[in-house]
Amino acid sequence: MAQELSEVSMDKLVSLCKRRGFIFQSSEIYGGLSSAWDYGPLGVELKNRIQRFWWREMTQLHDNIVGLDAAIMMHPRVWEASGHVENFTDPLVDCKQCKQRFRADQLEEEAQAEHKCPECGGELTEPRMFNLMFKTHLGPVADNGSLVYLRPETAQGIYVNFKNVHQTGRVKIPFGIAQVGKAFRNEITTKNFIFRTCEFEQMEMQFFIHPSEDGKWFEHWKEARFEYYKKLGIREKKLRFHQHGPDELAHYARIAFDIEYEFSFGWKELEGIHNRTDYDLKRHMEYSGKDLSYLDDGKKERFIPYVIETSAGLTRTVLTVLSDAYTEEEVGGEKRVVLKMHPLLAPVTVGVFPLVKKDGLAELARDIEANLREDFSTFYDQGGAIGRRYRRQDEAGTPFCLTIDYQSKEDGTVTLRYRDSMEQVRIHRDDLTGAINNAVKEYKRES
Ligand code: ATP
Repeated sequence: MAQELSEVSMDKLVSLCKRRGFIFQSSEIYGGLSSAWDYGPLGVELKNRIQRFWWREMTQLHDNIVGLDAAIMMHPRVWEASGHVENFTDPLVDCKQCKQRFRADQLEEEAQAEHKCPECGGELTEPRMFNLMFKTHLGPVADNGSLVYLRPETAQGIYVNFKNVHQTGRVKIPFGIAQVGKAFRNEITTKNFIFRTCEFEQMEMQFFIHPSEDGKWFEHWKEARFEYYKKLGIREKKLRFHQHGPDELAHYARIAFDIEYEFSFGWKELEGIHNRTDYDLKRHMEYSGKDLSYLDDGKKERFIPYVIETSAGLTRTVLTVLSDAYTEEEVGGEKRVVLKMHPLLAPVTVGVFPLVKKDGLAELARDIEANLREDFSTFYDQGGAIGRRYRRQDEAGTPFCLTIDYQSKEDGTVTLRYRDSMEQVRIHRDDLTGAINNAVKEYKRES
C-alpha cells in the first residue's frame, strides 16, 4: 500500500523537471537568464497536450467558435487604442539599501504600510508606474516611426480581426474566436519557477455577444471554464473563484472573476474571465476610423458587440498540472515520486520493458512497442532493474507500463502496470490498445 508523504514544494518540482527533462533554465551554460525557461522533451509534449486539450474543448466542441493565429507584432496604434500604452503599468518600488525591485501592490501588507523592504528591511522609494510592454523596432532604423511592441496579450489580435472573421467565417453572434500564442510582459518580479515569466503563452477565447446578454454569457463561461480544469484532471479542492474588487479591475473590465489554484506558494490566478463590454471594439473604431459594428440581419439591428473573455495561461497551466500531479508516497519502506497527471496529458502514455535483454525478449518488446506507436506515445527502456524502470516512468507521469517476460513468448500475454495504483494485470498483447484506451477514458484520480 502506498502512503502519501508530503505536498509538492517548488524546489522539488524544479529539480524533478530538470532531472526528467520537462523544463530547463534558459541559457544555462551561460549562467542562465533569469525568469526564462526552456521546455525539454517531456515538457514540450506536456505543453502541446494541454494546448490541444484546450483547443478541442474551445473550438472543436462548439459550432460557433473559430480559431485565429495573429502576429505577435502589431501596428503600434493597436496598443494606444487598447489602453495599454497608457494603463498597462505596475507600481515599481526600489529598496534604497539592497537595490532589489518589487511590485508595490504585491508586497505583504506590513511591508506596504511600513514602506520597508521585505528582504533587508531597508527604506523603499516612492512607487513609480512602470509600463510592462517590451518595445523594439521594425526595420533597420531605430526611431519613433519604427517603434513596435511585443504583444502583452493575445486578445487584441482577435479584436482587430473581428470583422475579417465574421465576414469570412460564416459565424453569427453569439460567436467566439480562439487563439493560443506567446505574450510578453516586462514583469518586475518573476519568481516561482514558470508561474510568472516575461515570455509566456496564453490561450484566449473572446466571445462576441449582444450587449443585453452579457450576464447570461458571463455566467456560462465562468462555469464552463471551471469545469474545464476538472476535466483536465486538476483536483477540485485546489480550485476556487476569486472575484475582482473595484480596485483590482483592469481598465477594460466591468466584471471579472479569476479561477485560482492553490500552489505551494498560495492561491494564485490561473485564468481570468472578464466582461470587457464593447470597450475594445469601440476604441478600435475610434482609433482606426473603421466601422466594427455588427448587423443582425434578422432583427435589422446594428450594434457593437460586447465581449466575454476567457484568458488562460498555457505555461501557467503546465505549472498547475505538474504541481497538482506531484506526489511523494512511501511504498514498501521506500519513497516513490509519481506524477499523477491525467493520462491524456502524460508525455509518454506507455512504457515498454523487456524483463531481460536476452532470449529474444528485447525483440519481442520492440515489436509490441512498434504496434502501439500507431496509437500512443511510447517509450522503450531495457536498462536496469524493472523496479527502477517503473520509478523513472512514475516520475515522468507515464500512466501505463508493460513488462514482456518469458511467458509472453509462450502465450502472447504481458504485464500491464497502472501508475497510480501500481496494480498489475496480465493481458494479451492483442487487447492492449482497447484496454489502454478504456483506461484513459475512464481515468479518475483517487487522491
Ligand atoms: P497579474 O495581475 O498576476 O499580473 P493579470 O491579471 O494581469 O496577472 P491577465 O492579464 O488576466 O493576468 O492574463 C491572463 C492569464 O495569462 C493569467 O491568468 C495567467 O494565466 C497568464 N499570465 C499573465 N501574465 C503572466 C506571466 N507573466 N507569466 C505567465 N503567465 C501569465
